[in-house]
Amino acid sequence: MSWLDLPADTGFGLDNLPLGVFSTPGTEPRSGVRIGDLVLDLWAWSHDEDHRTGSLNAFLARGPERWAQLRSELRGSLTDEAHRGGTEPFLVPVDQVEMHLPVEVADYVDFYSSRQHAENIGRIFRPDAEPLTPNWTHLPIGYHGRAGTVRVSGTPVVRPSGQRRSPADDAPTFGPSERLDIEAEVGFVVGTPSALGEAVPLRAFPDHVFGVCLVNDWSARDLQAWEYVPLGPFLGKSFLTSVSPWVVPLAALEAARVAPPPRDHTVLHYLEDDEHPWGLDITLEVALNGERISRPPFREMYWTAAQQLAHLTGNGAALRTGDLFASGTVSGPELRQRGSLIELSWNGREPLTLADGSTRTFLEDGDVVTISASAPGPGGSRIGFGEVTGRVVPPRHTLSG
Ligand code: MN
Repeated sequence: MSWLDLPADTGFGLDNLPLGVFSTPGTEPRSGVRIGDLVLDLWAWSHDEDHRTGSLNAFLARGPERWAQLRSELRGSLTDEAHRGGTEPFLVPVDQVEMHLPVEVADYVDFYSSRQHAENIGRIFRPDAEPLTPNWTHLPIGYHGRAGTVRVSGTPVVRPSGQRRSPADDAPTFGPSERLDIEAEVGFVVGTPSALGEAVPLRAFPDHVFGVCLVNDWSARDLQAWEYVPLGPFLGKSFLTSVSPWVVPLAALEAARVAPPPRDHTVLHYLEDDEHPWGLDITLEVALNGERISRPPFREMYWTAAQQLAHLTGNGAALRTGDLFASGTVSGPELRQRGSLIELSWNGREPLTLADGSTRTFLEDGDVVTISASAPGPGGSRIGFGEVTGRVVPPRHTLSG
C-alpha cells in the first residue's frame, strides 16, 4: 500500500510506474514517473543527472539492472511512510504538466504483424491475389520509417499532400490526401544497444527493450497505394507518427503475458519462442471525436515483439538506445476490432455511422483520434498506457499550391 491516496481503478498504481518527460510552465523538460494522477519529478527527487537531460535515453542506456533498481527505489519511497517527506514535495498534478516526446528516437521500424490486418489490406489492395504473401507466416514483415517525424501525442496532424492516382485518373495528380487514415499500434522502446554484426537472440528481448508505448501511424492511403510498389511505404507514412507520452516498463507487464495464437507451421530456429512467448494481453481502444469505434486486441498478434527484435537484428544490424519499433496495425477478427479506417470502412465502401448520425470513411479536417489501452496487472489491477491523440488540421499553403 502507498501512503498516496491512489484511486482504486487507477491504471497508474505501484505496479505500473511508467516513465516520461514533462515540464511545468517556465521549466525545462525532465524525466518523471506517473503515479495515480501525479507525476514524480525524478530529477528533483533523485538528483541523478540522467533525469535532467530532457529525454529518457541516458537512463535507458544504463540497462536492465539500473531499470530494476529505480523501480525498486520508487516502490520503496512510495510505500514507506519514512520516505514520504523526501518524496511528496516532488509530486506534481498531471493536469499541470506538459508532456514531451519521451525518447530521442534513433531508428524507427514499423512491422505488419496482425494477420487480420494483413489479410484485410491484402484483400483491399490486391483483390485478385492471395491476401497473405508467401513470406508472411515465415518472417515478421516490416520497413524502416522516419525517426525524425515521430512526435508526442497532441501534435497537430497537418493533412499531407502528395502524388496519387486513382483508378479513374489517366495521370497522377498532386494535392492534399483525400484518404487520411490511422493505424492503432503498440510501440517498443530499446534501451540497451547491441554490437554491429551480432544478432540479438529472442531470449535477450527484455535485456534490450525497456518498455512499451502506444503509436498512431498516420497513413495517407491514396499516396500509399500509388507509391508502395515495389519498395513499400514512403511518403504516405513519413509525414507524422504519434506516440503516447508514457513508456510502460516491460517489468509492469508480467501479468499480461500470453501465448500468441497458433502458428501455421514451425518457424525457423531464431524465431522460435515456445518456451517464453511474449504475447501481451493489451486491449486498445480507438475513439473518433470522443466516440469509441474499435477495440483492437493486441493478444491476437501473430508475431510477438521478441520475434520482431530477433528478426530485425538477425542480419547483425545494431540496436541503438532510443530505437522504436512498432507492431503494425492491431486488428482482431471482428469488425469493431479493426485498427484502421480503411478496414473499418472497407476502403470507403461501407462508411461508419457515428452517434451523431454523420458517417466517416477517412478522416476529415477537425477530426480527433485518440488511442488508449490497458492490460492486466498483478492481483486483478489494471496497467494503463494513457493515450496518444491528434487532431487533423488543413494543409498549410505551399509554394506549389
Ligand atoms: Mn503501420
